[in-house]
Amino acid sequence: MVTTPICNFCAKTGVLCKKCKQKLRKGKITNLEVEVSKVFARAEQRYLKQLQNVTLDRAHQMNESILLLTRNGNVIIQNTELRQFIESEIRAPIEIIERKTDTRTTFADLFHPLDIVEIDQIYVPPDGDIELKITLRGDPNSLRFSIDQLKQIAELIANNPVRLEIHN
Ligand SMILES: [Zn+2]
Repeated sequence: MVTTPICNFCAKTGVLCKKCKQKLRKGKITNLEVEVSKVFARAEQRYLKQLQNVTLDRAHQMNESILLLTRNGNVIIQNTELRQFIESEIRAPIEIIERKTDTRTTFADLFHPLDIVEIDQIYVPPDGDIELKITLRGDPNSLRFSIDQLKQIAELIANNPVRLEIHN
């Protein structure tokens, strides 16, 4: 069964239960994530087998596209029909970012072919909020996304503000 930020029943019916409503109100999930969850539930009716191990973690509007942070979401990219179904339901092109077992590996994939030199946690006063500073090495022209987009994606993955530094 496809897993989304809202519960399965809510994704299928389109009506949010008390628990999901509260998540939305507290800002733990966004309206966009609720909408994309419903699309995934509709897609599951047609592509049950393909989507059975897929988890939708987050969804984020990035320029004209909708970025989907997933686990096992590569099946969507590999299946043109499924991808087109989701894109037509969302009414936007999608980009899939695959979340790996740990954040470091997820970042390594995202910033490929650049190398990660280091990831520092910076405590920002006055409340000691954590900001990640990611130092990369390599040619930024070979990246899959622009620096600004990468920052947005990294923040979605880390759930914290991110600062990127690139050394040649
Ligand atoms: Zn629910």
